[in-house]
Amino acid sequence: MAAGKYKRIVLKLSGEALAGNQGYGIDPVVVDAIAREIKEVKASQLDVAVVVGGGNIWRGLAGSAKGMDRATADYMGMLATVMNALALQDALEHCGVDSRVQSAINMQQVAEPYIRRRAIRHMEKGRVVIFAAGTGNPYFSTDTTAALRAAEIEADVILMAKKNADGVYDSDPRHNPNAKKFKELEYIEVLQRGLGVMDSTATSLCMDNKIPIVVFSIDKPGNILTAALGKDIGTIVGGEKK
Ligand code: UDP
Repeated sequence: MAAGKYKRIVLKLSGEALAGNQGYGIDPVVVDAIAREIKEVKASQLDVAVVVGGGNIWRGLAGSAKGMDRATADYMGMLATVMNALALQDALEHCGVDSRVQSAINMQQVAEPYIRRRAIRHMEKGRVVIFAAGTGNPYFSTDTTAALRAAEIEADVILMAKKNADGVYDSDPRHNPNAKKFKELEYIEVLQRGLGVMDSTATSLCMDNKIPIVVFSIDKPGNILTAALGKDIGTIVGGEKK
């Protein structure tokens, strides 16, 4: 039996989270630490799926801002997420956690194709499933991927692990010392106030499917487990799953 209020979680790791303090690329020490935290979550009998971002390597929008074709630049971004997924799988393997990478872009030599039923079966067998290559479509983000996959696999919550942010604020706490952190928010407030939880496509998908989002800091060790167990942390958007 799962120890907390959730049974199945989607953990969204931004590419930035895997870069550590170097700000770019993959820091294996940081990835190892994340893998060990995921191991603790697994030990609490939760089904764990991870969606990895790619911003530590490449973002489509940055490429298109410099004149590249947007779709091409986005496909490059999706490929970047596959590198991150493989790094996380390697780290999970090193700490004895069974995992599978499923890619939304077929590349059978390195990852399984995304097959929803197989992903669920993996989790039932105790494996962590890492979703790579985003949705497989340009013009989307890995936040939207997290929302989409969470809906598909009927996850109870999306845990948005953020670097340099411990929740959602009414203004940027780095610039405003009086910025107020929200404990709870409704999806519509996030959309109307343009709060930086996830992009609006991802937020809308969560709203339509009543998937709660927990925004918390990955900078403090142990936070992933705290969030996965449904304890009070960061900001929760959408509250309890109805
Ligand atoms: N991307 C995409 N479609 C998707 C998911 C991602 O085109 O479904 C591309 C997009 O260019 C994005 C990049 O992959 O900038 C990396 O993903 P994201 O920016 O979401 O990564 P994160 O910010 O989480 O590190």
